Amino acid sequence: MDRDEIIRLLATTDADEVRALLKAADEARRLSVGDEVHLRGIIEFSNHCARNCRYCGLRRGNKALRRYRIPDEEIIELACGVRDAGIATVVLQAGEDPAHTTEHICRLIGRIKDATGLVITLSIGERSFDDYRAFKDSGADRYLLKHETASPELYRRLHPDSDHGNRIQCLRWLKQLGYETGAGNMVGLPGQTLATLADDILLMRALDIDMIGIGPFIPHPDTPLKGAAAGDLELVLKVIAVTRLVTGNTNIPATTALAALDPEIRLKALAAGANVIMPDFTPVHYKRHYEIYPGRSGVPSDIARVLAGLEKDLAGIDRRIGKGPGDRKSRSND
Ligand code: SF4
Repeated sequence: MDRDEIIRLLATTDADEVRALLKAADEARRLSVGDEVHLRGIIEFSNHCARNCRYCGLRRGNKALRRYRIPDEEIIELACGVRDAGIATVVLQAGEDPAHTTEHICRLIGRIKDATGLVITLSIGERSFDDYRAFKDSGADRYLLKHETASPELYRRLHPDSDHGNRIQCLRWLKQLGYETGAGNMVGLPGQTLATLADDILLMRALDIDMIGIGPFIPHPDTPLKGAAAGDLELVLKVIAVTRLVTGNTNIPATTALAALDPEIRLKALAAGANVIMPDFTPVHYKRHYEIYPGRSGVPSDIARVLAGLEKDLAGIDRRIGKGPGDRKSRSND
């Protein structure tokens, strides 16, 4: 699929064509990664952030947000909870918190690995090559760093204190170091076009990204973009579908941001090419302050009930919870 074809598919509003696109993506998902839906238990361990991204509620300029850092002992306990729930991967996510020194993160990774044996995914933003190498040497297996947008110009407007070139360089380093590497974008960013979205998909293919998070832009009331419209959910589904068709055997989550706009939509995303869900293990008294976008405190927190409900929902669409770590499938499945 070339750029023009991707743009044409993203632009279509013909109901039959949209249905055919989602169905083709679902079939591609079935053939390339199977019917299992892999779970990743996420722990949002700090909402401090040194950056000022214009859409994000964690931006340092948001003085209305109550900040927290979960103590290491508690993070390790939460990771044990992920393991005890039968989930093989923990995702440690935080803002770009200056308190997270390389030594601290390495120590934390080592302790979680020793205590749980889980696959560890880090998502703590842009760091140096040496940091990424140190995290890997300490036991981190995967790293999520959304590229946000393939357009350097749009990126500059949304991220006044970040550099698009450095972001992409970080993704290259992560691949080079052997991480399963995640990137992704937001659909509906002010100033974004369908051509930008097509470039996002092609960029992720070019970088051979392993995990791809695609979610809607949701305006946060305490950010400069508070007055902008939220991303269109049907367009998000189309982007997921085309991404599945273009990238083959990648792992694509049905993101929590989707669920924040419409609890039913996650199943639709799973039927449009997605194959991963990331249940949130962050205790609710912290989670309500991890406000990248609003509406997160509505996400249910009783994890046993969440997993039971998920199992039932998946059975209804002939899918099942995956066993094992759910690595990206071997490239021979492409
Ligand atoms: S998007 Fe990430 S780097 Fe930017 S302000 Fe939010 S948490 Fe910080």
